[in-house]
Amino acid sequence: MDPFVYNAAPGRVVFGHGTMAQVGAEMERLGLKRALVLTTPQQDADGRKLAELLGEKCVGTYAKATMHTPLAITEEAMQLAKTLNIDCTVALGGGSTTGLGKAIAYRTDLPQIVIPTTYAGSEMTDILGETKEGIKTTVRSPKILPEVVIYDVDLTLGLPTSLSATSGMNAIAHAVEAVYARDRNPVISLMSVEGIRALASALPVIVKNPQDKTARSDALYGAWLCGVALGAISMSLHHKLCHVFGGSFDLPHAETHTVVLPHATAFNEEAVPDLLAPVARALGTQKAGQGLFDLAQKLGAPIRLADIGMKADGLDRAADIATQSPYWNPRPFRRENIRKVMQDAFDGVRPG
Ligand code: NAD
Repeated sequence: MDPFVYNAAPGRVVFGHGTMAQVGAEMERLGLKRALVLTTPQQDADGRKLAELLGEKCVGTYAKATMHTPLAITEEAMQLAKTLNIDCTVALGGGSTTGLGKAIAYRTDLPQIVIPTTYAGSEMTDILGETKEGIKTTVRSPKILPEVVIYDVDLTLGLPTSLSATSGMNAIAHAVEAVYARDRNPVISLMSVEGIRALASALPVIVKNPQDKTARSDALYGAWLCGVALGAISMSLHHKLCHVFGGSFDLPHAETHTVVLPHATAFNEEAVPDLLAPVARALGTQKAGQGLFDLAQKLGAPIRLADIGMKADGLDRAADIATQSPYWNPRPFRRENIRKVMQDAFDGVRPG
């Protein structure tokens, strides 16, 4: 066994069907009395139902959470939090809503209860990505990690199949980067491979029948494991490329991960085939990069950057940005390598 460091992240997880009903009890357990419910405009009705469920324990709702956590939204929510004198937030939604709760916690250290409704996995990390004037920056802090996460499978039954597919691939991306991370460790590698296995088997079922409760449960379980993996390791090339495409070209988060992942993985697979072999096995294939490409195709998810808003004439600038402040990667690379990975993702060619 190679030497390693393992940090167990604190935090309580409640998993099951109908578990949202336990949110009041979870607040009581922490001695909390004045929650602000956070969500997006699209999930406003669900946020109101949650507020009703909490009764007097909810002092307000804020339904303007936005992708990539723009500073202006955080400042508005902070103002409301102050006016209402809240003692916690309850975030109901995907990574965007979780991001807003984290942004408030980072500034106030208020406790957070998160009820995730996608597979993004943000609820399991101490990472906050924020956007100011079009630039996305990331911070890590123990204050950012939610105190309680309530996974309620029933809330994911309505997640549209297209978003289920791309959000699931986004989760898988966290776990793929965990198995070859510089700071990898055996516990997180086990969780990562199990998370990939659970998602890779559940997502094709969900795409055919979004109401399949067993598949939904397996996918959410996989998303939890992949989120834990992201929270425990440092990200490499794949996440770097996605941050460039999301932050500087405004490409959609989960779709970008879906398209880039097979190519970044195939690039790294040449350097660390042994580390990626368990991923390939979890996908039921010989090669991880190819297996991820085939999975995305099977799910009917996008496979070309060209189809999700990227313009060919932006690739050179994207490669420049990615090379200027690179993340560590198991396979050293030069700009021309990055440019090639980006071109392959742009064209949607099957790796290998
Ligand atoms: P999202 O939260 O933006 O959700 C996408 C849309 O789907 C929203 O309109 C949302 O309201 C809706 N939605 C969510 N769940 C639904 C459901 N069950 N039924 C119907 N509609 C639903 O998308 P996301 O991919 O979950 O999150 C993306 C954001 O999360 C990005 O800003 C990304 O940077 C961030 N993120 C952060 C981390 C981290 O560790 N910091 C990890 C992953 C993602």
